[in-house]
Parts: sequence; C-alpha cells; structure tokens
Amino acid sequence: MPKTAIVTGGSGGIGSAICRRLAADGCFVYVGYSSSAAKAGALADEIGGKALKLDVSSPSDIEAAAKMCSCTDILVNNAGVSEIGLFHCIPDERSRRLMEINLIGAMNCSRTFVKQMIARKSGCIVNISSMWGQTGASCEVDYSASKAGLIGFTKALAKEVAPSGIRVNCVSPGFIMTEMNSHFSDEDLALIREDIPLGIFGEPRHVADAVAFLVSTQAEYITGQVLAVNGGMVI
Ligand code: NAP
Repeated sequence: MPKTAIVTGGSGGIGSAICRRLAADGCFVYVGYSSSAAKAGALADEIGGKALKLDVSSPSDIEAAAKMCSCTDILVNNAGVSEIGLFHCIPDERSRRLMEINLIGAMNCSRTFVKQMIARKSGCIVNISSMWGQTGASCEVDYSASKAGLIGFTKALAKEVAPSGIRVNCVSPGFIMTEMNSHFSDEDLALIREDIPLGIFGEPRHVADAVAFLVSTQAEYITGQVLAVNGGMVI
C-alpha cells in the first residue's frame, strides 16, 4: 500500500519538488496550498495526488485536512514566508503573521497529524528550517527566529514521539533558487554565490532529495537531526 504524504506549501518552489520526489518514490501526495489553488491542482494532476487547501495558520483548515487525510504516514512542514527589513521596522502584525505560518503553523499541523501516527505507531515528520535558523540573518530576524524555533521543536518532538515509532527531522536549506529569492538583483546574487563553497545555488530538488532520504527506510535510525543542504555555506 502506498504511503500517504502531506506537504504544506506544496504549491511553492521547494514544496513542489518535494511533492514530485515523494510521488516518484511511490507515495500518494496531498499537495498543500494556501492561495495557489491552480498551481496545486495542476501539480496534483501531474503526480497523481490531490490538492489540499491547507492554510497552516487556520485551525479550521487543519481540522478539515485531518478529516480528509485520516491515515497520514509523512508530514512535511514546508510552508513558509519571509520578511525582510530592519527588525525594529517590522510591524508587530507582520511579525506575528510570520510566526503563525512558519512556526506555529508547523506545530499545529504536527500536533494534529501526529495523533494519527501515534495511533498507528509509525510515521515521519520533516520540518523545513533554514540555515538562518542555525546562524541568524541580519534583516531577517523574525524569519531566523521562526526557523530556529523549528529546530528546537524538531528535537523536542523527536524525543517525545520516538517511543511511538515516529521520527521527526529537519532539513535546513541554504540559498535555493525559488520565488522566495526572486527579489535579489543580479549583483546581489553574484555576491551571495561567492559565499557558497560549492559555487552554485541550490535547487529545489536538492532539498527534496534530503527529505526523501529522511522519510526512507535508509534513515530509519535517524531522528531529531538537522540535515543541512547549503553547498557548504554553513559548516
Ligand atoms: P515559495 O516558492 O515562496 O513557496 C512558499 C510556499 O508556502 C507556497 O507554496 C505558499 O503557498 C506556502 N504558504 C505561504 N503561506 C502559507 C500559509 N499560510 N499556509 C500554507 N502555505 C503557505 O518558497 P520556497 O523557497 O519554496 O520555500 C519553502 C520553504 O523552504 C519555506 O519554509 C522557506 O522558509 C524554506 N527555505 C527556503 C529557502 C530558499 O532559499 N528558497 C532557504 C531556506 C529555507 P500558496 O502559494 O498556496 O500561498
């Protein structure tokens, strides 16, 4: 029987690569989306999965998703937004919104879907953090804090649910070419590339490969870990 996977933010750059990869590995994939229904629908058709309206900041969306997907084997908490600017200039409301999506959203989705996993004594959760959650980024303070929170969340939940046969890990991408980084100028991009020891930007498939590994049987003895996918940018 194929495993069932839910990928939040499956409509985005990294999320869609994760959906494609998990489907190629034999999973039935729910492509989560918040506003990009058409993109999610097209991807779901392409990979033989199903689009799933799942605004991770909406308790009612999470509840409805759990009713639709009552037997979830894999949850990938990938949905995320960024906020760029000086910390003291970011309005409280935008900071709170970012936390509600990047951190609280991942925690609330996990809280809901882990119940199904505990009942079956198996399952995998992968949280998509960021190298900025490990090192901190100037002008992305709220984002860095949310991603650092995801790392702490991963470690604590991994310890709590390991006795139930559930593994929880984290992937920490570096600079990956997606919509999220589309605001950088060519000059900025050239400077950023100089800081990447492998000399190339990451692609969504690099993150998807790491997720696929962590949910596979090859990683059956790995839990509570942070797998960095950053071309050597943070070592
Ligand atoms: P992206 O292309 O901008 O995609 C973002 C995704 O998040 C979209 O699918 C979007 O869905 C979804 N999303 C936004 N708000 C949401 C909400 N309230 N509920 C559910 N989904 C929501 O960005 P990306 O680069 O693929 O980023 C994916 C993840 O990787 C994020 O967590 C990001 O922080 C992390 N990351 C990215 C990089 C990078 O360099 N790109 C590096 C490190 C970590 P809709 O379009 O449907 O609204």
